Amino acid sequence: MKILKLFFILMAIPVFLFSQMSDYRDLVAFAEARGFVVTSTTGGSHSAGSAHYQGRAIDVRTLDHTNQQVNEFIRDARNHGIIVRDERVRPPNQSVWSGPHLHLQVP
Ligand SMILES: [Zn+2]
Repeated sequence: MKILKLFFILMAIPVFLFSQMSDYRDLVAFAEARGFVVTSTTGGSHSAGSAHYQGRAIDVRTLDHTNQQVNEFIRDARNHGIIVRDERVRPPNQSVWSGPHLHLQVP
């Protein structure tokens, strides 16, 4: 029984690794599958040193969803290991802000 348990633990490792988000294309697929419109990937203007320029972040539109839908999407994304910055309201000290959106980033 112990060997069987070990076997299942070892089998779970690649599944865990392959389900991780690796770049912005995974984030786009994630957002679009849930009906969110991607407004920015690697282009556009972002803060200096932004993960957008490294191909590790996207922005999605929030105005076409209710707050509750957006909150559920944030929870879903975080459960998938995605870093989410809620920019529905301009964050203090943020020099570049393009309007209400969510910023999704690969960890
Ligand atoms: Zn962003």
